[in-house]
Formats: sequence, C-alpha cells, structure tokens
Amino acid sequence: YAKGKGRNNYQFFRSEMNIRAVERQFVEANLRSALEKREFILHYQPKINLSTGKISGAEALLRWKRPSSEMILPDRFIRIAEDCGLIIPIGRWVLRDACTQAKKWIEAGLAPVSIAVNISALEFRQVDFLESVRSVLNDTGLDVHCLQLEITENVLMDNAESSAFILQELKNIGVQLAVDDFGTGYSSLSYLNLFPLDVIKIDQSFVDGIGNSKDNGIIVGAVIGMGNSLKLKVVAEGIENLEQLNFLKGLHCEEGQGFYFSKPISSESFVEMLASERSF
Ligand code: C2E
Ligand code: MG
Ligand code: MG
Ligand code: MG
Repeated sequence: YAKGKGRNNYQFFRSEMNIRAVERQFVEANLRSALEKREFILHYQPKINLSTGKISGAEALLRWKRPSSEMILPDRFIRIAEDCGLIIPIGRWVLRDACTQAKKWIEAGLAPVSIAVNISALEFRQVDFLESVRSVLNDTGLDVHCLQLEITENVLMDNAESSAFILQELKNIGVQLAVDDFGTGYSSLSYLNLFPLDVIKIDQSFVDGIGNSKDNGIIVGAVIGMGNSLKLKVVAEGIENLEQLNFLKGLHCEEGQGFYFSKPISSESFVEMLASERSF
C-alpha cells in the first residue's frame, strides 16, 4: 500500500512539474516578443506620508497585458525573465518608462513625487547598470533625487562587498536607495551600517501580522525604532486596514503603502489622484 501511495505521489509530482514546465515554456516564448509588442505597462501604487496623509510618491509595478488575456502579474514572469536574461531589457524599459512618467507628473505641477523602481539581482550586477541609470536620468531630465531604487535584502547580501561598491556609486549619482522586503532575508543587521541606504521597506508579512499576533507588532516596532535611530526612512508595505495604519502611525513610521490606501493603478488614475490632492 505504502509503495502504491508513494508512486501516486510521485506521479502527482511529475504532472505538477510538467504543468510548470509547460507554463514556463509558454511564458518564456511569449516574453521574448512582449517588449516589441509593447505588452508591458507600469502600474503605480501610491506611497503615503503617514503623518500628513499626503501622497509622497509611487512604486512602479510591472504588468504584462497580452491581447485578449487577463493582466499577468510579476510573480508569474519576473523569475523566468531573470533566468533567461530577459529581465535586462525589460528592466531597462521599466526604468525609462517610470522616469519618463514621473518627469511628466512633476512638469504638470502635480506634486513633488518620488518614483520607486524595483531592480532585480541580474540588473543590479550588470557592468553597465550605473551607466544605464545615468543615461535614463539624463535623457528624461528627471531630478535624480526623485528616483528611488528598490533592491531586496537577499540581493544585497549575495555579495556584500560588491553590493557596497555599486550602492556607493549609485549614491554618488544621487539616487535614493531602498532595501525591499526588509526582514525576509537571511542577513544580519550589520549590513545596514555598511551600505549607504536611505530607506527600509518593512515586508508586508510583518505588517500583515499586526493585530493578529503580538510578536509581529513587536518586530515591526523594533524595525521602526532601529530605522529611526539609524536615520533611515521606514516604509511599511501592505497596509490593509485602519488598525495596522494606526499602529504604524503610533510608532512614527514615516511612510506606507497598501490596499488600505490604494492598489497599484494606471498612470492616468494616479494622475487623477494626485490632481485631486487627496489626503488619507
Ligand atoms: P514588491 O516590490 O515587494 O512589491 C509589493 C507587492 O505587494 C506588489 O505586488 C503590490 O501589488 C503588492 N501589494 C501592495 N500593497 C498590498 C496590500 O496591501 N496587500 C497585499 N496583499 N499586497 C499588496 P506585485 O505588483 O504583484 O509585484 C510583486 C513583486 O514583483 C514585487 O514585490 C517585486 O519584487 C516584483 N516586481 C514588480 N515589478 C517589478 C519590476 O518592474 N522589476 C522587477 N525586477 N521586479 C518587479
Ligand atoms: Mg518593491
Ligand atoms: Mg516588497
Ligand atoms: Mg515582494
């Protein structure tokens, strides 16, 4: 019996793997032409200054819209794009498009917003990454201080020495540097002193637990306290309800983003939101 069951599990595992392999091939094949076909768009999730309630910026989040299909979210294709190297041209497009948009918002006199762009491991380690950031800023005319690059903790720690070098070069250009998904990596906290960072983004898994578990609240509190002491701006990700918001405000968390304020929205909707001078 045990043997039979084992084999069923094995077969189940095999078919799961096949489904994944097929999905992967499909994604990879279509991803190759997606840039040319202009199937990518950026959505923007507002970032809120928690003490004023005003929009301070947005995070650009990539979406893939294939004709006659639902919007495809990054979790289904970013990893594959990284594995086959396509993340390089895609990431370049993201950076350029996000900076172009932000420049338009600022020129339209909307609000002094900053734009955050996610950078993957492979992009971060490209030899010409710095050059590509410089040329995008140069071509779009966006004020360097308005650009924030988000890099995950794991990417930074993967080769801490070279990360410190790249970050310092970016710092010299004048862009803002954020650690994304803070608290989910395996790293020690000592890197916070080694890297020239401006922002830490508390991962939504911790924010999620506020109210559910006392321990998560304690962790969030400790991260905010540490960030404040180190003069880092602390941003909370994934705020979904008023209880979480009030808790974070009480601890002087500077910024937040999450479905409680807004989901990621199109640039048109974001412009409308900015223009309405809405405050939360
Ligand atoms: P991330 O950078 O940590 O982005 C936050 C993710 O959380 C986004 O998912 C956002 O839609 C989602 N989110 C925001 N507020 C809430 C909330 O209140 N509740 C919940 N449940 N979720 C919330 P999204 O857009 O699906 O992106 C997932 C990840 O894909 C991002 O995580 C980022 O790592 C990656 N990604 C997105 N766009 C890009 C890109 O242009 N380049 C690269 N390299 N990675 C990207
Ligand atoms: Mg991010
Ligand atoms: Mg994150
Ligand atoms: Mg994430």
